[in-house]
Amino acid sequence: MFRTVGVVGAGTMGRSIAEMLAVKGRDVLLVEKNGKALDTSLELLEASLDRQMERWAITLAEKKLILNRIHKAASLQALADCDLVIEAASESLDIKKKIFESLDRYLPQSAVLASNTSTLSLTELAGVTRHPERVIGMHFVYPAYRIDVVEIIRGLKTSDQTFEQTKQFIEQVLDKKSIMVYESPGYVTTRLICLMINEALLLLSEGVASAEDIDLAMRVGYQFEHGPLEMADRFGLDAVLAALERMFREYGELKYRPSILLKKKVRAGQLGVKTGSGFFRYNKDGERLS
Ligand code: NAD
Repeated sequence: MFRTVGVVGAGTMGRSIAEMLAVKGRDVLLVEKNGKALDTSLELLEASLDRQMERWAITLAEKKLILNRIHKAASLQALADCDLVIEAASESLDIKKKIFESLDRYLPQSAVLASNTSTLSLTELAGVTRHPERVIGMHFVYPAYRIDVVEIIRGLKTSDQTFEQTKQFIEQVLDKKSIMVYESPGYVTTRLICLMINEALLLLSEGVASAEDIDLAMRVGYQFEHGPLEMADRFGLDAVLAALERMFREYGELKYRPSILLKKKVRAGQLGVKTGSGFFRYNKDGERLS
């Protein structure tokens, strides 16, 4: 099922989704408009596989097999033979609408078009296609290859067949749990996690505790793998800001207003792991330095 999968966008999520699909034996065609971002992404992907090798989770032969399944594709047109495309481009309605319009033209009607958007309307995206029944939301949590839950979002016109195929793929091929959510900005995961991150940023800017201590409190106190500030660094501070801004606009509630500190960091280009620094510092393989 879904033997060849296209992934659009090779940023934080696109890379992670491509890795997960290749590990599950799928051929992946990766389209990224920014050549430098694509190279960085492929380096980070290899570093992630190297770390798994160090932990004896995969062998060198498996690493090579996984990398061989990921192919760079020059354009959306090159995805014409895919059964499924997962769009993970920047969180902008204009960008995504153009992508869906093109995918709808290039791919046969039987192919499923999925978006990994956290906050944009699936129904609106589907609205630019001639076949909105095959458009669906597949919202992965970063890092997709390790987090075993996916939110499935139905647009107003998503068909039962598209929903069932997607659910089966997530549960039987990707071996993950799925939850069905109704179209609503942030769904369950982004809405909850971004509020916690934003509150941690407010604590930090009010001088209540240091970044290290805020993270330690949540890691040890509530058994999170990473504290909220390191989580933000790993998701990408620009991605967190985009999600909060969108939820603030959509719900009109002050609780979603992004902290000024988050905006400052993004304006300074300190986006977290992808730029080497955010609230903490990271090496080029994404490992924390300080
Ligand atoms: P990102 O900025 O890290 O990556 C986006 C990539 O898309 C960039 O490399 C950009 O060059 C590329 N891109 C933009 N327009 C393109 C186009 N027309 N064709 C091909 N590539 C294009 O962003 P991200 O954090 O990976 O987020 C991607 C999507 O995933 C967003 O919709 C976001 O809401 C969603 N998401 C993000 C997270 C997270 O933790 N970062 C989690 C769940 C979902």
